[in-house]
Amino acid sequence: MADPIRDDTAFNQSPPFIDVNLFTSDQTLREAVAREGAEWAAVDLEVFGGVTGSAAAIELGRCANVHPPELQAFDAQGQRIDRVAFHPAYHEVMAISMAQGLHCSTWEHLLTGGAPKPGAYAARAAGFYMAAQMEPGHCCPITMTHASVAALRHAPALAAEWLPKILSRAYDPEAVTAETKTGVTLGMGMTERQGGTDVRANTTRAERLDDETYAITGHKWFLSAPMSDAFLVLAQAKDGLSCFLLPRLRPDGALNGLRLVRLKDKLGNRSNASSEVEFENAQGFRVGEEGRGVPTIIDMVTLTRLDCAVSSAGLMRQALARAIHHARHRSVFQRLLIDQPLMAQVLADMALDAEAATALSFRLARAFDGGADEDEIAYRRLMTPVTKYWVCKTAPSLVYEAMECLGGNGYVEEGGFPLLYREVPVNAIWEGSGNVMCLDVLRVLERAPETLRRMLDEIDALGGHEPRLKAALDRIETLLAEAMRDQSVARTLVEQLALAQAGALLLAHAPAAVSDAFLATRLQGTWRSTYGAGAAGLDARAILDRAAPQVA
Ligand SMILES: Cc1cc2nc3c(=O)[nH]c(=O)nc-3n(C[C@H](O)[C@H](O)[C@H](O)COP(=O)(O)OP(=O)(O)OC[C@H]3O[C@@H](n4cnc5c(N)ncnc54)[C@H](O)[C@@H]3O)c2cc1C
Repeated sequence: MADPIRDDTAFNQSPPFIDVNLFTSDQTLREAVAREGAEWAAVDLEVFGGVTGSAAAIELGRCANVHPPELQAFDAQGQRIDRVAFHPAYHEVMAISMAQGLHCSTWEHLLTGGAPKPGAYAARAAGFYMAAQMEPGHCCPITMTHASVAALRHAPALAAEWLPKILSRAYDPEAVTAETKTGVTLGMGMTERQGGTDVRANTTRAERLDDETYAITGHKWFLSAPMSDAFLVLAQAKDGLSCFLLPRLRPDGALNGLRLVRLKDKLGNRSNASSEVEFENAQGFRVGEEGRGVPTIIDMVTLTRLDCAVSSAGLMRQALARAIHHARHRSVFQRLLIDQPLMAQVLADMALDAEAATALSFRLARAFDGGADEDEIAYRRLMTPVTKYWVCKTAPSLVYEAMECLGGNGYVEEGGFPLLYREVPVNAIWEGSGNVMCLDVLRVLERAPETLRRMLDEIDALGGHEPRLKAALDRIETLLAEAMRDQSVARTLVEQLALAQAGALLLAHAPAAVSDAFLATRLQGTWRSTYGAGAAGLDARAILDRAAPQVA
């Protein structure tokens, strides 16, 4: 008989959710990759899924967060060095993601001179979705480096100088000049104490030294990844707010007038260093025209918004997969949790949101693959803020509910859920918080109303015959008129847009059990304030068979 005190067989505990291939085990992801144009990347993504889901990688992610970065403002002799020291695990996850090209792969044609590779954004999105599950904090420098190229293209000479280093897949954390490095990363500095959304209130000044070069003096209240080799920053020049490339070091290796004041002590995102910084006569190179700082840097911000949605979808997937895994192994009252009707319904209800988040995020990634196609341009303009809003706002409640599915183990650090839970709200806050996304949607609808028409046409083509979708389209038209008069309707409108498009995508591409449950609960009926409420009657078994991690 088992010893009731020293029972080391730990029966009825679910096995650790590790060494699970994050690509092959995720049917929704695999289908999204194929549908949105990146089937060619499947073999490579399968390899990356094995790496990112490995026990070793998950342990790296844990270590990088348990040992957060430390500010080293001075050396032993009291000289300023303004460096940040990271745990080796952080460097390793950076190296894994950069080797995969997540910081650069969509731009590789810029060096070779060919056309963009079809499906490059969708393939990269799949990698990013899995990298976020391995370790979410390092995704910040990865997304900023990738997105920086969109802004840098406004300064062809600077782009020519920096692109070869950005496009290198080698991670080089040495604190030496970019010129001598094998690869570089870039950050972004917009937010000041007095305003992050309202960047026009920036007080940092840029004094012109010659045609392209400026002396930058001021501060940034948030500057993440401060060991980046350069930053795109906003500062006030003579003709108004402008964008500058500010290298961390000068060509002689000295600090470029940059002082790290402190690192933020954050709720989550702990592996990633986010600093407060001061600039004193830092050398900056103008990117784009003077006075056009916001339109220049917005090209970068738009890409990071895509990544916020993609990584939140990844975190939702990871939370859901762990919850289902646990429920498949844990018995309560002689029955596996997954077979308890109420638990099955909760899990299935969460699976619907995870599926919708993935569908929306990968459809958006395809829009970025769409280049100059007018429908895709319209999709990017309207659906980037819509997708970021809905996916990033839905993720925290799903992660919380998934954590609860593990009972007390969900709340304990070793299981990994607290890391996910602390991380997940940040994607809604940075790169344009919720209300800002909604106001952005209103702005697009005012300035380019045809974007909505194109969007509604897409929903109509995917599923206009379906009465619940048709009713949603009618609701959107009514809400649009109201939102144009009354800003406070914006969240309702944006949510409806997200739900209608998600419903249409699921109707066209997901099994009927999924799409029907989604339409019945999200676009009709009494759903919900919590998962599992107002969702009676959905086909939990069919939904969960699809959502369950597919492991041998
Ligand atoms: C971990 C972390 C890392 C970060 N890293 C960086 C970085 O590297 N570089 C960088 O530049 N910034 C960074 N940020 C800053 C981030 O982008 C800002 O915090 C964000 O843009 C919001 O700006 P704010 O904090 O000034 O809030 P505010 O702009 O004051 O906004 C506060 C609230 O008001 C809402 N709001 C704003 N305007 C309106 C309106 N007109 N109507 C209704 N509601 C409105 C917003 O949605 C928000 O909820 C980081 C933030 C975090 C948390």
